[in-house]
Amino acid sequence: AAKAAGRRTYRFFEPEMDAKVRERRQLETDLRYAIAHGGLEVYYQPCLSLKDDRITGCEALVRWRHPERGTVSPAEFIPIAEDTGLINEIGEWVLATACRDAANWPDDIRLAVNISPVQFKSGTLALKIVAALAASNFPASRLELEITEAVLIRDDDTALAILHQLRAIGVRIALDDFGTGYSSLSYLHRFPFDKIKIDRCFVNDIAGPDGSASIVQAVVNLASARRMTTTAEGVETEEQQRLLRALGCSEMQGYLFSAAKPADKVLELFATHRSQLAQRGDTELRRE
Ligand code: C2E
Ligand code: MG
Ligand code: MG
Ligand code: MG
Repeated sequence: AAKAAGRRTYRFFEPEMDAKVRERRQLETDLRYAIAHGGLEVYYQPCLSLKDDRITGCEALVRWRHPERGTVSPAEFIPIAEDTGLINEIGEWVLATACRDAANWPDDIRLAVNISPVQFKSGTLALKIVAALAASNFPASRLELEITEAVLIRDDDTALAILHQLRAIGVRIALDDFGTGYSSLSYLHRFPFDKIKIDRCFVNDIAGPDGSASIVQAVVNLASARRMTTTAEGVETEEQQRLLRALGCSEMQGYLFSAAKPADKVLELFATHRSQLAQRGDTELRRE
């Protein structure tokens, strides 16, 4: 009878639901394995100044090369990692790896690392950051943490206390995906972020007829009044770049300049980009 009842409880799930749950569980098992066996990698996407075209920094983006599924997108596995707590391990590893890689970069290039709300609330984030900086000898002033509005929603005072604690370490703080969450401009008043990253969706239709140019303009104005810089995410066309520059946005990131690359490739990019800029400078000097 017990067996029959058990079977009946299982029937509670729709078949597709069941398949989804099983697939998720499988991904979780595979993710655990990947963490333990070097299956994760960190890629770096450069960020370009719209004022002088210099590379100002790179964002660390985790990659998972699954033995059967190929590359699994972080959009798919980060939520699973957050639900299972695996994000703490992944985040710590990304932070340590990225600081070690970035210690080889020219010293005017910053490193940005995404911090999940789960890590943010863990109570040990500040300690882990101090440890990663010490182990890699990477300066705190060149590390930027990207957090989303999700960390600010509830329990504002705790969140603000953590932000101030991180600031005291000397790292910079950026507000990621701005405009997509439960955006409240009051966050910008309660905490002085160093940077606002304008979400890709606003960049996407910035050139359209009833495009988002006016929203971008408002964010840029607000940011500069509060001495924050702005980075436009997901810039894919020359026209978007031109408009963002005209609107006074400080920096851009996107496929137009470069997708995220492995550590060795991004080092090569720094060198070629630098010599391109130098060459352009020479031509301009000769023209004068
Ligand atoms: P995000 O932090 O907003 O990162 C930007 C995402 O946009 C990246 O996707 C990047 O590859 C993609 N992107 C950059 N330029 C373009 C473009 O021009 N067009 C389009 N369509 N996309 C562009 P990715 O690497 O798949 O990461 C997705 C999200 O996963 C990230 O969004 C971030 O929230 C999360 N994530 C990635 N790595 C980490 C990590 O190490 N820790 C945590 N906690 N989250 C991470
Ligand atoms: Mg980010
Ligand atoms: Mg973002
Ligand atoms: Mg995003």
